[in-house]
Amino acid sequence: MVDKNNISTVLVGPEKIEMRQMPIPEIGPFDVLINVKVTGICGSDVHFYKHCRMMDFQVTEPIVLGHESAGVVVATGDQVTRVKTGDRVAIEPGVTCRTCDMCKAGMYNLCPDCQFRATPPTDGTLSNYISHPEDFLFKIPDGVSLEEGALIEPLSVGMYAVERANVKPADTVLVLGAGPVGLLTCAAARAAGASEIIVADLVPSRLEFAKAYNSDAQLLLERPQKGEPNIEYARRMSTHIIKELGGRRADTVIDCTGAETCVQMTVLLTKNGGSAVLVGLGASTQTLPVAEITGRQVDIKGVFRYCNTYPRAISMLKKGHIDVKPLITHKYPIAKSKEAFLHAVEGRDGAIKIQIINDHV
Ligand code: NAD
Ligand code: ZN
Repeated sequence: MVDKNNISTVLVGPEKIEMRQMPIPEIGPFDVLINVKVTGICGSDVHFYKHCRMMDFQVTEPIVLGHESAGVVVATGDQVTRVKTGDRVAIEPGVTCRTCDMCKAGMYNLCPDCQFRATPPTDGTLSNYISHPEDFLFKIPDGVSLEEGALIEPLSVGMYAVERANVKPADTVLVLGAGPVGLLTCAAARAAGASEIIVADLVPSRLEFAKAYNSDAQLLLERPQKGEPNIEYARRMSTHIIKELGGRRADTVIDCTGAETCVQMTVLLTKNGGSAVLVGLGASTQTLPVAEITGRQVDIKGVFRYCNTYPRAISMLKKGHIDVKPLITHKYPIAKSKEAFLHAVEGRDGAIKIQIINDHV
């Protein structure tokens, strides 16, 4: 049953959210109307909320926020075959052209025409109803909740980072940054068979959380000394960490902070011939220790979102190989979206993943 209520969380200016009624979207023959039930708040939503811009994307018109979502199918276009009314689905938020070289090569995350939810000019998923094409929807099986379904999006980033890193059984993996993405990268590395997962952060509470979540060792990094150049700090921390590891570097290091010091450490701490994987989004230009890259043949790999991860993520959740539930620390009803975003900005009370629950039909 589709009613007239399409309450939506709309960003209208920096730190200014309005709850607005949006038109009920039309569905084309291959589209599905979804009653969105759960949406996680991601760092990029918070970034847009605060600054109305991120990387090259500028919010010039009011935009619906949210892209980590799951919901229930309420209507289907007449050509839809993959899902039916009543199915619970995880929503892959980036819809690509399906015909360009990247799409055809199976690297659709690099499609230049991708329309990604809550990235201008594409509206996000924090609405009662959205229309989404069936090939970017994935049925959530019995035994997996909508809340877990909404976490498949950030889990996908971690799974794809681990895939890019080529993590193998018994590997030592070092993850820099214990936010949701770093933690889910740890979970994906564990599922890929890594035997030693080390996570580093500046914030003790984040490491405390990581202690109980897919990491074997937690390193509390001290902050740089006053006036200490980034690369000197990165070398000093790396020397310390190599000592902690008994003189070894990690098979792969995955940066989930974007901070220049951590990107430098990612290179410095990767073993000879290993992969240094960059997930974090920080300053667009950063200085790297290039002699370490050539002299020790370190492969630098960028990660841009993910591709082909949803079916595997669902299977991992269903089989219990990955548990995303502990990450959900707070929930807000959609009417309290403003409070939810304020909470995410402040990051207080041990917040890891804050989800917005839509209790409208
Ligand atoms: P988050 O801000 O919640 O977590 C980042 C963590 O890194 C925090 O715990 C913070 O304390 C830690 N950190 C920050 N600076 C540090 C430093 N100098 N040294 C050590 N630790 C430091 O963010 P998140 O949601 O977990 O996302 C992590 C990063 O991944 C962000 O930069 C985000 O933009 C990026 N991201 C990238 C992609 C992609 O496609 N490449 C996708 C999603 C997120
Ligand atoms: Zn394409």
